[in-house]
Amino acid sequence: MSTLRFQALKETLNRDYVMVNESERRSVLFGENVFNQTAMLQCLTKDAYNSVMNAVEHGSKIDRSIADQIASAMKDWALSKGVTHYTHWFQPLTGATAEKHDAFFETIGNGQAVEKFGGGQLVQQEPDASSFPNGGIRNTFEARGYTAWDPTSPAFIYGTTLCIPTVFVAYTGEALDYKTPLLRALQAVDGAATAVAKYFDKNVKKVSASLGWEQEYFLIDRALAESRPDLVMTGRTLLGHSAAKGQQLDDHYFGSIPVRALSFMSDLETECMLLGIPVKTRHNEVAPNQFELAPIYEETNLAVDHNSLLMDIMDKVAIRHNLTVLLHEKPFAGVNGSGKHNNWSLSTDTGVNLLSPGKTPMSNLQFLTFFINTIKAVNEYEELMRAGIASASNDHRLGANEAPPAIMSVFIGEQLTAVLKELEGVTDGKLSPKEKTDLKLNVVGKIPEILLDNTDRNRTSSFAFTGNKFEFRAVGSKANCANPMTILNTIVAKQLKEFKKEVDTLIDAKGLKKDEAIFNVLREYIKESKNILFEGNGYDEAWEKEAEKRGLSNNKTTPDALKAKVSDKTLDLFDEMAVMNKIEAEARYEIEIEEYVMRIQIEGRVLGDIARNHVIPTAIKYQNMLINNVLGLKKLYEKEFKKYAKEQMEIIEEISMHIDKINTQVNKMTGERKKANKLTDPEKKAADYCDKVKPLFDKIRYSCDKLELLVDDELWPLTKYRELLFTR
Ligand code: ADP
Ligand code: MG
Repeated sequence: MSTLRFQALKETLNRDYVMVNESERRSVLFGENVFNQTAMLQCLTKDAYNSVMNAVEHGSKIDRSIADQIASAMKDWALSKGVTHYTHWFQPLTGATAEKHDAFFETIGNGQAVEKFGGGQLVQQEPDASSFPNGGIRNTFEARGYTAWDPTSPAFIYGTTLCIPTVFVAYTGEALDYKTPLLRALQAVDGAATAVAKYFDKNVKKVSASLGWEQEYFLIDRALAESRPDLVMTGRTLLGHSAAKGQQLDDHYFGSIPVRALSFMSDLETECMLLGIPVKTRHNEVAPNQFELAPIYEETNLAVDHNSLLMDIMDKVAIRHNLTVLLHEKPFAGVNGSGKHNNWSLSTDTGVNLLSPGKTPMSNLQFLTFFINTIKAVNEYEELMRAGIASASNDHRLGANEAPPAIMSVFIGEQLTAVLKELEGVTDGKLSPKEKTDLKLNVVGKIPEILLDNTDRNRTSSFAFTGNKFEFRAVGSKANCANPMTILNTIVAKQLKEFKKEVDTLIDAKGLKKDEAIFNVLREYIKESKNILFEGNGYDEAWEKEAEKRGLSNNKTTPDALKAKVSDKTLDLFDEMAVMNKIEAEARYEIEIEEYVMRIQIEGRVLGDIARNHVIPTAIKYQNMLINNVLGLKKLYEKEFKKYAKEQMEIIEEISMHIDKINTQVNKMTGERKKANKLTDPEKKAADYCDKVKPLFDKIRYSCDKLELLVDDELWPLTKYRELLFTR
């Protein structure tokens, strides 16, 4: 074994695992480091408390003098917990979270100092943000960016820093982050869904979208992970032969959690509790060393913040356990990749889940209304949904026979399919009393019962109804959920707005009763949305053909998929729903296209380096050993040496062949990269990286992996799959 590998493994095997001792009940720890309602009630005056709650519930402005009071109380609360710094915490378009710490400490002359934090600092900051991606927005407007407090996501303490969740926008108002469009989309869906929910209950004043994400990840020993330059630089292995054992025995999924992983999980979950992230479920996933963590669902903006925060702290906690968390969608070839199911629903301020069937026919009609409108929205905007989950890393997963395919489809189960079929037959126009009774008793009225036994689940669907929520399964494990959630909530908002218009027209112009009008519109929606409904196996090749016939998009690569983000249809949608203007939408597209290019570019460079500097020299070393052996045999046996050196000579030739192939392909890749880099049009550049550069990766990898099998294990410099995936 090479020295590097040997040392990494030795370090791994000599580790002491500390089992985290959880002495405190989780309910006691929960939210301890969050400036939540309880903390606010304790620290704020009644006026200040009401002011924050009004801002949270109705989006009202907070007075400057009240902001001063809140800041001061927040500071005292934080100081009492040993905090020294504060930061505006935001989510720029890098996908990661951003923070710039400032100390509360200030000098006041005479060599004296105090801790200070004013309303101004709480409400607004101007980070020097010129290095965040902005897709040309700030250049165009020569505007600076600023961060502004989002009171709907409570401040929290991490380490010794008070973190204040904020939006990040240009002075001209354009969003420079993930949060701003999400908040606008949530507002849009609130408005549209509340108007529709009022058909069923006049008391509804607000509808919130909920999100429950399920985070998948790999956990690898840190020394082993860091011995691989590809993992360090790109988050995935660019080469490596499959281990003799993979996931074929299915012995990892839901298996007993390895001690060291469990210790990491306990530690992570304790941190989550303190931060008010309601994590609840943990288990082994399908691939070796792959795991999942899921919380209790929350309001979407908060859930998105919590997932972003989680991804950040996972890394920090892992360091304490000498582990590395891999959030990449496909760190290892040949075993499952990671995703992040986004469970989504809508619920009213009166406590009703709009995607959950109720006890009365009317509440079930409400359920069907939201259920069918969601299906219709996905049918209309399936290509945009696909664009919302596109990334260089997620491309490895979508359509790679393990995850939902790149085709968007909706699975609803046998029973609900039957219900839709019945509704399709509803009479056009006024309904007879008998038909109404029939519908209420036999179709709508039976929904709760049928859903109870609707336990079949189609794991191959990208968007599945699972009893009382939809589950968007194609989201990538390292994605910021804000991106798909902005899209989903916007398209549903738009759809509900259209629905309301159509129903009202039928009531006003045709004199239909409310429920008749609703039945009439839903009937048409069912007919119009048939293409998106698919109950079969999404991994099957036959589905690709069928989907094509239906006219569904199948954008397999990110450059193709992203185009839907700037189609006229999308730009109109975002504009109409006041989620993003054209400049903002186009800027995001540009940023994502550029990020794609950079990711593939980095991978190409790293792969070239490893192939040339690690693999080829090692292969030559081993080949020399063989040559010396053959020469020795020749000395010993003279003419008869071939009898004893046949095998060696074959390997010598094979090594030469692979070295030659690697060299040729790496040269070709470098050439293609240079050509692509000269292109000034970002779209063309991305297309070249996708179609000309990336396909060479597999060819280079193929020969490298063959050499891994040929070369003496003692010499091989790269930690192997069996070591990465099976060391616990
Ligand atoms: P799975 O079988 O896919 O693991 P679970 O039933 O365990 O699904 O739920 C997964 C996630 O769905 C959890 O995070 C849970 O909080 C979330 N979830 C449940 N109900 C809702 C809802 N109404 N809205 C959003 N998410 C929800
Ligand atoms: Mg799930």
